[in-house]
Amino acid sequence: MRRQFIAGLLLACSLPLGSAVAQTFPSKQITIVVPFSAGGPTDTLARILAERMGRSLGQTVIVENTTGAAGTIGVARVARAAPDGYTIGIGHWSTHVVNPAIYPLTFDILNDLEPLAYVATNPQLLISRKDLPVNDLKSLIEWTKANSDKVTVGTAGVGAASHVSGLYFEQKTGARLRFIPYRGAGPALQDLIAGQIDMMFDQAANSIPQVQAGKIKAFAVTSKQRLKALPDIPTVDEAGLPGLYIAVWHGLWAPKGTPREVAAKLSAATFEALADPQVREKFAALGQEIPDPAQQTAGSLRAYHEAEIKLWWPLIKAAGIKIE
Ligand code: ASP
Repeated sequence: MRRQFIAGLLLACSLPLGSAVAQTFPSKQITIVVPFSAGGPTDTLARILAERMGRSLGQTVIVENTTGAAGTIGVARVARAAPDGYTIGIGHWSTHVVNPAIYPLTFDILNDLEPLAYVATNPQLLISRKDLPVNDLKSLIEWTKANSDKVTVGTAGVGAASHVSGLYFEQKTGARLRFIPYRGAGPALQDLIAGQIDMMFDQAANSIPQVQAGKIKAFAVTSKQRLKALPDIPTVDEAGLPGLYIAVWHGLWAPKGTPREVAAKLSAATFEALADPQVREKFAALGQEIPDPAQQTAGSLRAYHEAEIKLWWPLIKAAGIKIE
């Protein structure tokens, strides 16, 4: 009885307090943790969103790059942050689906994070340094086979989308690649442009501008449709690697326990950003497809995340990816 009374009292006190916190939220700067280097695809997406979300929320939204171990360090920082809405994180297919299958994480990817919004999806481009001596995918496959174990391929870490796509390529072609891990696709792409490494599977968002500027070569896009921004680049089906589809989808998450009204404000600011014609134009130029509003919701992100885990974990675990 007494316990019930105390519980009732606590509930009565916490309700107005919770909504008071939510009413004044946000009263200071918000941080979006990007688990990869500045200048990469996840970082670019986060910066476009941060600027527009800040306008809706009436506070500055900054981006913090907490890098390392294919994004696991940055995602852990969000899972352990105070659940007050002032630290949230962006992540994607490999940080939130692949990594939990291969890294010994100290948090639970589904239960220690609160989904906020499903943001966009982006295929990969198979790209190379400009002076690589081949010009189409079939010749590239032959070249990698002839140079087995010597072809250097930049990745954003073991288990990153860029790495898993490369493993998929090895499996389909029989070629052996030499993976070079970076702290994000940003610095890896810089080394590719400088001719320090041979190839990369990169999120289209990162490499489209460099392909357009003629600084690197693109061989194929890992989706069923060509990219509007690069209509001359064939799909993997057209170019000779049928079925090598990888879509890197991004979402936003808050730490578990973030008050519901606070999370709702953050989600709403994200939806507003995704509806803004200027944001949409920037995303389109990067090949980032924005899901329909009904799919952007926290509930849809949760359902999609769970479905992707079910789909990919058996495949990823069977691939035996080693973290050294
Ligand atoms: N998302 C990573 C980055 O932004 C790239 C990757 O996962 O391959 O650098």
